[in-house]
Amino acid sequence: MVCPLNSPSYSKSLEEVHEKVKQIEHDQKLQNISRTEVHQADNMKEEKKIVHHLLYPYSDLFKRWGADLSEEEQTVAQELFLKYGYNVYISDHLPLDRPITDTRSPSCKKRIYPKDLPTISVVLIFMNEALSIILRAITSIINRTPAHLLKEIILVDDYSSNDDLKGPLETQIKNYNAKHPGLLKIVRHEKRQGLTQARISGWEASTADVVAILDAHIEVNMAWAEPILSRIKEDRTVIISPVFDNIRFDDFELLQYSVAADGFDWALWCLYEPLPDEWYALKDETAPVRSPSIMGILAADRKFLGEIGVLDGGMHIYGGENVELGLRAWQCGGKIEVLPCSRIAHLERAHKPYLPDLSIAVKRNALRVAEVWMDDYKYMVYFAWNLPIENSGIDYGDLSSRKELRKKLNCKGFDWYIKNVYPNLRFLPNIVGYGTMKNTLKEDICIDQGPVPGNTPIIYPCHAYSPQVMQTNEQIFTDEVLLTVTFKLDRCVTDPGSGDLPILEQCDIAVSKGLNLHWDFKQGSAVINRNTKRCLEITADNTGTYRLVMQTCTGQRYTFISLCS
Ligand code: UDP
Ligand code: MN
Repeated sequence: MVCPLNSPSYSKSLEEVHEKVKQIEHDQKLQNISRTEVHQADNMKEEKKIVHHLLYPYSDLFKRWGADLSEEEQTVAQELFLKYGYNVYISDHLPLDRPITDTRSPSCKKRIYPKDLPTISVVLIFMNEALSIILRAITSIINRTPAHLLKEIILVDDYSSNDDLKGPLETQIKNYNAKHPGLLKIVRHEKRQGLTQARISGWEASTADVVAILDAHIEVNMAWAEPILSRIKEDRTVIISPVFDNIRFDDFELLQYSVAADGFDWALWCLYEPLPDEWYALKDETAPVRSPSIMGILAADRKFLGEIGVLDGGMHIYGGENVELGLRAWQCGGKIEVLPCSRIAHLERAHKPYLPDLSIAVKRNALRVAEVWMDDYKYMVYFAWNLPIENSGIDYGDLSSRKELRKKLNCKGFDWYIKNVYPNLRFLPNIVGYGTMKNTLKEDICIDQGPVPGNTPIIYPCHAYSPQVMQTNEQIFTDEVLLTVTFKLDRCVTDPGSGDLPILEQCDIAVSKGLNLHWDFKQGSAVINRNTKRCLEITADNTGTYRLVMQTCTGQRYTFISLCS
């Protein structure tokens, strides 16, 4: 997993939906324009410029790329795009050793590293990635890693079916090895084992002092390895993440990302955290960033990674393995750091060809993490996925060896972790529900934050996007408190005690003003304000329009419906 700036989310914001609609309208306009241009060109006769008909105006591939392609080329590009989730057409046309922008800060560029650093094995894992993509990754590694430090590049094929990854890839490996004897190795899985096991297989095959385990659709940037190797030389217990830039899936331009710490929410989706104050206090842009977790791509002392249990081989297909490593590293005597001077360009796909719905795998793997590492906090993960703790119905596999590992390594608990490593991870004791909140009287309308700016919650047709995300313990929070961190200003539902409307107030202000923000609520029961004893209910006026009101309880009930499952 490498985190996109807006991490994969099951609750897309309305803005995104509007954005999509605007884009479709825009695409249609473009198509009309290009038709008019063709028409004008016909009339003018001497105008030779060919403007092609856009065959796929709704495809993400052609939003800002491909206007000059013939119809035949568009079809080839579109088919490759659907198969791979990125622009293989452009990849096949770009040089393997293309230059990319050096995105390091000036102070990184000035740093000088010792020559005698530990050696490195670089692992590239893949499952049906495009051949030119893999070759460009290899080329960038060879060109941008000091030859005396690069011991080997290990390709791990997670049972790909594409023909070009068989014979043609073998030929390429031979060619590389003719120039750089013994540099390239390949491990092939006999059946599909998922990305975690692919990373483990790469680690098993590696022999250098340090191992870097990368996706196959990357291009390493200038001097990416030296910061990693010198940091691990200083401290073998640190697990490292480089900083990612995004290779855009359509035009392959490099989009620079800021340096950030790697975090996660309670569903264990990745997210970027602001840099810690202590890091700014150092006034050194090259300093390592202490990070609660890791995104997936990692570098570590090979033996140390083995000592702490590499990765959880019981994980399926995708997701969760990165958080598991983050917790295990911190809880068992290691640490995680992001190194600002080590930069890797990573291609963010438009879609995952191997799994249309990532949440199925992430959910299952998240429960493994919760069960092994999260102690009394594990129910937050169950809540985030809206699963009962007992009999969740999800078979997360055998955990005995991971639990034994935790015992053997004498690891600290999650309570220590959350207090000392990740205090930004919001913890709400005694959560009753999370998701959209529906009145059982009428199930197609939901509690909604109402117009913004404004502070009157309303009842609105259910659409499950973020203005309708609610959660409650003894307070009713709006927005995704469970899934985000402290920098958001949460709002709480309060009963003003008079009038017939509930009011939203920023929670900390509601607390300091002593407003009525505590409620008694259980799944499927009334929502009663603890102080005023009034209920949050709905009324219909004579036009049949519903309003959310505070009134004397009449026995109305609410249920939470999850957004995750
Ligand atoms: N991968 C794999 N086996 C799988 C799924 C993925 O080996 O079953 C590889 C994939 O080719 C890629 C890496 O795992 O090199 C990470 O997957 P992906 O890039 O799709 O995840 P993201 O980086 O977008 O989170
Ligand atoms: Mn990737």
